[in-house]
Amino acid sequence: MSTSTPAAADLTDDELRTLAEQAGAELEGAHPREIVAWAARTFGPDLVLASSMGDEVLVHLAAQAAPGIEVIFLDTGYHFAETIGTRDYYADFTPIHLTTILPLRTVAEQDAEHGARLHDRDPNLCCALRKVEPLERGLAPYRAWITGMRREDAPTRTDIAVVGWDARRGKVKLNPLAAWTQADVDAYVEAEGVVLNPLRQAGYASIGCAPCTRAVAPGEDPRAGRWSGTSKTECGLHT
Ligand code: SF4
Repeated sequence: MSTSTPAAADLTDDELRTLAEQAGAELEGAHPREIVAWAARTFGPDLVLASSMGDEVLVHLAAQAAPGIEVIFLDTGYHFAETIGTRDYYADFTPIHLTTILPLRTVAEQDAEHGARLHDRDPNLCCALRKVEPLERGLAPYRAWITGMRREDAPTRTDIAVVGWDARRGKVKLNPLAAWTQADVDAYVEAEGVVLNPLRQAGYASIGCAPCTRAVAPGEDPRAGRWSGTSKTECGLHT
């Protein structure tokens, strides 16, 4: 992976935001591989990809565009075994450097403190403890992060930029797949032979923690399987 350019590493937040906004305009329409490659050249070791292994295409593509790229995986303690297996495949067989980030408390410790099945009673608190805090800790050393968000994922995501400024965290946020449709993703998977989470074959279109994810029927909104039966649509990582 290329080293960080001194210019990028030394930029102030204002300068970084300007860089991100300019890059977002210039790279709109570029292939996601090109966007990741630009990020790797620009930020070097200050760049990280955050993956839940529900975005296998992004991990595959980043490994090609930026071999050695840093990847963080948030192990909430509630993942499907298939998701952990997918993480292990990409960590062991593709050129990424993956670090697993754990919550501050195990599930048992959380149960002792808040009672069992917090995800049923207060999913926002559960996500805050098991996803959001670990993400903030995992992102802290970096100035730029990559996500697998796409505009068509949800009404809350229709205006995301391919490169933008994450004002809350003071970091550049890259969404290389922002403009891709599900058809684009499917075509890439087929053309490149991307290894997918086996749950996809069982109808899991959007994959999160086991207690909060169900399979969807053909034609159903892919994210209808997340926090099904509640009004919750986001885990808090991107809000
Ligand atoms: S998705 Fe569900 S189990 Fe996972 S952290 Fe959020 S509430 Fe908890």
